[in-house]
Parts: sequence; C-alpha cells; structure tokens
Amino acid sequence: MQNVAPSATKAMVARTRALEVEGHDIVALTQGEPDFDTPVAICEAGVAAIRGGRTRYTPVTGILDLREAIVGNLQTDHSLVYSPDEIIVGCGAKQVITNALLATLDPGDEVIVPAPCWVTYPEVVKLAGGIPVIVDCLSSPTFKFTPEQFARAVTPRTRWLVLNSPCNPTGAVYNQRDLVALAEILRMHPHVAVLCDEIYEKLVYQPARFASLAAIAPDLRDRILIVNGVSKAHAMTGWRVGYGAGPVSLVKAMATIQGQTTSHTSSIAQYAALEALAGNQSHLDVFRDTFRKRRDFICDRLNQTEGLTCRVPDGTFYVLASCSALLGRRTSDGMAIDSDIDFATWLLESFGVAVVPGASFLAPGHIRLSYAASKDEITRACDRLQAACETLA
Ligand code: PLP
Repeated sequence: MQNVAPSATKAMVARTRALEVEGHDIVALTQGEPDFDTPVAICEAGVAAIRGGRTRYTPVTGILDLREAIVGNLQTDHSLVYSPDEIIVGCGAKQVITNALLATLDPGDEVIVPAPCWVTYPEVVKLAGGIPVIVDCLSSPTFKFTPEQFARAVTPRTRWLVLNSPCNPTGAVYNQRDLVALAEILRMHPHVAVLCDEIYEKLVYQPARFASLAAIAPDLRDRILIVNGVSKAHAMTGWRVGYGAGPVSLVKAMATIQGQTTSHTSSIAQYAALEALAGNQSHLDVFRDTFRKRRDFICDRLNQTEGLTCRVPDGTFYVLASCSALLGRRTSDGMAIDSDIDFATWLLESFGVAVVPGASFLAPGHIRLSYAASKDEITRACDRLQAACETLA
C-alpha cells in the first residue's frame, strides 16, 4: 500500500470543503462531475425500483435488461455487436477498470499509460501488482500518444495499453486516423490488450468526432475492453454504475473478482441506469451544448490571463492550462511559486480558487480546471485567477 497514492483530486476537493466550512468564499473548478442534477426520469426509475421491490441481489454482472440496453447502445452508436455475456456492470467505471487489471496482471506485468492521465490508472496498476509504464505526451502539440511512442514502449511484459479518449485531463480525442495508426502497432504485438476508457464519449465537441477502437479495428475486438458508464454523460456520478464490454473469458474473470468483493452495484442504481441508456436521452445534447459554451468561454479567459495558456480541448469538461511561464515568480509576500502544486495551493489559500495541480495527472507545469460549474462560477474563478496572476512578479 505504501506504493499506492491516494487520489490527489479528492484531496484538493477535501481541502476546498474544509476552507468552505471555515467560512471562506471558495470558487471550485476541481469537480470531476457534471454540475447538473440527474434527469428526473432517471431518478423516477430509481424510485420505481425501490417501490416495486426490485431491491434484492441481482446477477453479479448486472440485470439482463441493463446489459441488453448496453449491447443495444454499442450497436446503435458504433455498429458494434456484443452479447449480454460479454458485458459486466460494476460500481462505476473505476471498479470495472480495477477488476480488469486485478484479473489479468501478474507481478511485474507492464501497463502502458500515456500521460497526462487520470490519476487512478497508474495507482490501480500498482495495486494489481503491475508496473505502470508512463509515456509522456505532455509536449506533443495535441497531447496525444503516437504510434512511434507506442512502438518504443512495448516490451514482452506489456499486458495492456490504456487508451482514454476523450482524455481526462487534456480533453484530447483520438480520431479515426489516430486509432487506425495505433491499431497497426497493436497488430505487431498480439500479446498486448487495450483498455479503451470511453467514459467521456458523449462529451465531444464538433467538429471533433468520437471514434471507438473496437469499431475501427474489428480484428482486434477480442483484445479490447471497452469501459464506459453513466456517471459523466447522464450526471449520475453518485449512482455508481459503469460497465465493460469485452471477450467472455475476461468478463468471466472480472465477474469472479466482483462476485467475491462487491457482488454487483445497487439494484436500484441499475434500474436507473437502464432508464438512462434505454429511455429518452434528450438531456445528452443539452448537457453537451452547455459544456461547449462554457469551454469556449473559459479557454478565452485563460488565454487572456497573463502567464496562462491553454489549447481548446475537443472533449470532456476539463481544460489543462500551462502555468509554466509563471514558475520561478514570487507572490507579493515573497513566496516562491516553483511548481504547479505551489501555484494551485497559493490560488486556493490566497485567492479562493480551487483547481487541481497538473502534477496529479503527470502534467507538471499545468493546472486542470473543470468547467462543470455555472457560468457565474467560471467567471468569478477566471476573475480571481487573472487578479492573482497579475500580482506575481
Ligand atoms: N475514467 C476516467 C477517465 C475518469 O475521469 C473517471 C472519473 O473521474 C472515471 C473513469 C470513473 O468513472 P466512474 O464514476 O464511472 O467510476
């Protein structure tokens, strides 16, 4: 356990809450979740499950109706053909990823993780006895992992490549061409599987388009685990429903682990997720359009702020801004800002703006801002950021 770090994002959120409890006025752009409420019809489906007595144990991999709805969405959205026994529903995408790594990693097996990355991947790899092989994409103009980097990172011990598109924290989206090129390298290394974390699939802003590796390289289907869930797209983070779609042998192994640990996610949440995936989905467009407007606004403001720069992300509700031009400067009371951690801590403690330091995502010299906040909050945060940066000398 000494090798596994606690979640840094959650630590920043906890410090923010503590300051708020003390009465400080904090504007937080740290959230890894939509600020919208779960749509009413989805909540009603949860209530109906309770009232209807659907409150008992379910199959470990999830109720059949939900797995069928997932199969239906994969077919409709990406023309992917899966059967319900190739689907496992878990307590969020996080548990699905953890199950997959626990089920497959032998001690010393390597997992390639392109960085910047979601904080959890390297830590769960370590928890499962594996070795995260971090490939730095921070200096790439798109933040994306290239086939050349992939070819260089593969060894006989590589078990998985983790591909997160759209990516937390960069917002990068791998297009069809990117995936075709990565698939070429995968074909040369048949021992490598791919964990495609597609949890932000529904949050892609045109002209960018979401592409799924399994659809682009059908010959690799049996080496791909698609991970997705309802948390981000349907504003259901607290319900804890995620899923995986992959080969039966892998799904069975994951189900064995889940069956001996959590069994399954809540029956009530599963019925709510069924409504999210099989019912009216008009909220998806509303959420996406709202996020898009906020993205454009926050990126403009950040790029107008002295010392900060950002690229406009194609997906998610995060923007990764560089603060490297500010490092080495001093605050008005003489404190040195030598790292993104110093910068984020100072912003929180002195200006009441909470952001996550890039170091938490293996993106030193950057901060991650979430625009899953109201326009008013984003405006106030940007005003404070601007004022803060202007005081640095
Ligand atoms: N994958 C990525 C890239 C994430 O950013 C997150 C949440 O922050 C998750 C998975 C976890 O999602 P869930 O709430 O379904 O566990």
